[in-house]
Amino acid sequence: MKITKDKASAFWQKIDKDGPMPDQSNPHYIGLNRCWIWTGRTNHNGYGRISVSFDGKRIMARTHRISWEIHHGKIPDGMLVLHRCDNPACANPDHLFLGSHQDNQNDCTIKNRKNGRRGKRRPYGPRDFTVPRVLTQNQVDEIRAMRRNLKVSCSEIAKIYGVSRAMVWLIVTGKAWKRPAPV
Ligand SMILES: [Zn+2]
Repeated sequence: MKITKDKASAFWQKIDKDGPMPDQSNPHYIGLNRCWIWTGRTNHNGYGRISVSFDGKRIMARTHRISWEIHHGKIPDGMLVLHRCDNPACANPDHLFLGSHQDNQNDCTIKNRKNGRRGKRRPYGPRDFTVPRVLTQNQVDEIRAMRRNLKVSCSEIAKIYGVSRAMVWLIVTGKAWKRPAPV
């Protein structure tokens, strides 16, 4: 697909470069910078969708593929654009890589992604940017203990407490709710 100026500007209008940081406590995500979140429409798997014209017809394209083409050029036939960050709504070119279907399968297995992208896990879309519910010090202690002793993932904890994964990360790394000095 050829990327026209039109397409590129439709893409940039709805990209939020200030998305969540991939969980730095997960070895697969270390070193990744912030996700760029597509704030427009997404499909049922959480991939961004954008309407573009192709061969004179309007078609829906996936935004991470458009991002790849804007930054790196044409996607070779049969290749998929995969996410290092496992966030289907992300279009950060640093988080994308080309792979075959087999690579995608392997990546799922390595990262333990259940049922590929169709797992129950909620993608990190715009809806996750809600103001976190206020946590009590007890809950903060519980969160730290869950992470440290039970190795519960930050995303699981986030679901349990109704806060963002980024917030859980800030708590477990001690960047938020700093520990009170020992008495
Ligand atoms: Zn990302």
